[in-house]
Amino acid sequence: MKLSVATLALFAAVAEAFQAGKPTARARTGLNGEGSAETLVKTPPAGVDPAFDALVKANFPGAVNNKELATRVVGLLEEKGFTPENTLLATSVCADELARELEDEFVDVYGTNFNLGGLSGFPFAGNTGWGAMSAHVPDNGYCLTIHGPHVGITKDGVIGKVERSGIALVDSCCGSAIAASRYLQAITDGSANINPKIQSFSDFQQGAVQELILPFGQRLARAENRMRELPYALYDSQEVMVNDIINTGKAKIKKGLAVLGGIQINTSPDTFDYFHPLRFDYYDENGNMVENMLPYLR
Ligand SMILES: [Zn+2]
Repeated sequence: MKLSVATLALFAAVAEAFQAGKPTARARTGLNGEGSAETLVKTPPAGVDPAFDALVKANFPGAVNNKELATRVVGLLEEKGFTPENTLLATSVCADELARELEDEFVDVYGTNFNLGGLSGFPFAGNTGWGAMSAHVPDNGYCLTIHGPHVGITKDGVIGKVERSGIALVDSCCGSAIAASRYLQAITDGSANINPKIQSFSDFQQGAVQELILPFGQRLARAENRMRELPYALYDSQEVMVNDIINTGKAKIKKGLAVLGGIQINTSPDTFDYFHPLRFDYYDENGNMVENMLPYLR
């Protein structure tokens, strides 16, 4: 059997991961010049692009790039006793591969995550998922959960779209959220068709997103920029579910629980992604929320 250089490199990376005893981040995909001339190839950014950084922060005040976020979060949690060996990472972010960008920053530190999330970032694994996750926290260990919806921003500042690796079309991000927003808009302006098939198991997550966004019709209709407001409305909706799940299961977490919530901001393949933190709470071993750590992330 003849192995390509890429396959051999993959084997070497896997071997290294086993030796380290902790899984590394998922391999990041990219095309080797096989895409059309217009497509972008995923390359890790060399550094912060100051003009684009300013553009993101003008649209999302409070946003920090993912690298900076991970450095601050990991440092703060280290002071609490969180280490790569005693911490389980749990996430609730969208199914979209772009949502892995944020996860991977933390998977690099804490190892493979427990996935609680589904479309638009809602924690569809629910109470049962949380119960299983909390049982997997190392003995006398900690849990870091990260949750939130995501939104794209193009290089020239269009919100709700993003350039993707290997794809010429600059398309919607988050697709699930935007589909739900269109559904809601049709209900708000009275153009929606009567749908006799309200829920179906073959698309039940999107059905739920469309239901969970319903209270925000006026808020989105009045927003200066509907696409900018959309992830914040979804975040507020997700908080209701997240709090319900945490309040039911928080006492089962062993030593301590950190809950990081916010908006994930996806950007083109050659710039850093960002995160706007909206919540960073610390719960002690009895399940009591004892510290708001959000100010330390700003
Ligand atoms: Zn999405």
